[in-house]
Amino acid sequence: MSDVYARLTGQDQAVALLRKAVAGERHSMSHAWLFTGPPGSGRSVAALAFAAALQCEFGGCGECKSCQEIVGEEHVTHPDVMWVKTDTLSIGVERARELAMAAQQRPVMGRYRIIVISEADLLTDRAADALLKSLEEPASRCIWLLCAPTKSDVIVTVRSRCRFIELVLPAPAAIAQLLREREGVEPQLAAWAARVCGGHIGRAKVLATSEEARSRRTQVLAIPPRLDSLLAALEAAEALVGIAKSDSEAQSKQEGDKRERNMNRLLGLDDSKPLPRFAQAQFKHLEEQQKLRGKRLQRNSLDVALTELTNWFRDVLAIQTDAKAPLVNQELQGQLDEYAARSTANATIGKLDAILACRTALAQNVTPLLATQALMISLI
Ligand SMILES: [Zn+2]
Repeated sequence: MSDVYARLTGQDQAVALLRKAVAGERHSMSHAWLFTGPPGSGRSVAALAFAAALQCEFGGCGECKSCQEIVGEEHVTHPDVMWVKTDTLSIGVERARELAMAAQQRPVMGRYRIIVISEADLLTDRAADALLKSLEEPASRCIWLLCAPTKSDVIVTVRSRCRFIELVLPAPAAIAQLLREREGVEPQLAAWAARVCGGHIGRAKVLATSEEARSRRTQVLAIPPRLDSLLAALEAAEALVGIAKSDSEAQSKQEGDKRERNMNRLLGLDDSKPLPRFAQAQFKHLEEQQKLRGKRLQRNSLDVALTELTNWFRDVLAIQTDAKAPLVNQELQGQLDEYAARSTANATIGKLDAILACRTALAQNVTPLLATQALMISLI
């Protein structure tokens, strides 16, 4: 049966908790929930599934109009479910006040008014304060579903009012199965993508279905052995930023196309005819939003590249310390062995620290090229 939880791969425990909450809903319903889990584990997917289950007369059948409006498409069209996604680097107090106002409105059709915040870790402290009253109002029919990587990413005053749903890193076998059954990926490729994706389902899908994404990954992993001089390091930094840029452009284009098609559908436009005047302003707005997203996407792409590098150096460390764990990059064993032989475990730990420092710098808004240059020099 394909109910609203069908897309939650490898999250049996969390799904069981959510089912139980929906079944016992009439007795007590928490007003605020915090979904945590590593990137790609499906925090928003879980929150939306829960929202659908709460609104559905059948507890989340996945088939009825209400369910379809919440989990059926890319966009939520249910009038009582608000899905807050962020294009910028933080959610400020103004936006939080708007949300708190929206929470006051009575549900139009559904049983609750549900507000899903996909990146609650981006709430500024003042924004979080603005939500507090609304999070704990006992008589309210509003339910808040917040998502963040870990509990500590959300300030304590907010998280102390939430019930927790913790998602885990899905096992490679579960991801491989999903790729084979849902995406029609052939078994060997599915197994490989599931192994190298670090539990990130979205990343696994991209790697399994895009030749270009695989080639960009190969380019990233070819960097460390080449770093033998300052010049090589500076060139590598430029290359890495370039790879992240083309990766984010590919993603941005794909999402842009989808948004445009969606907009066409909403406006009842025909793709093959020129744009009527009334639609031009809408499209201009769409383009501007797209540019804003570009910056964030590029940062995400760089983050993905840094994760790949981290896994590569962890493999090196595993060889150097004779750990028995299987390598993430088994197919690069020769290259990894060679690198491991001419360095030490201590040096490798230092390099893993340098990648972490680069991440911290990027989170503090150091420009990508500068942060990457510093990193590459420490990786020599
Ligand atoms: Zn339903």
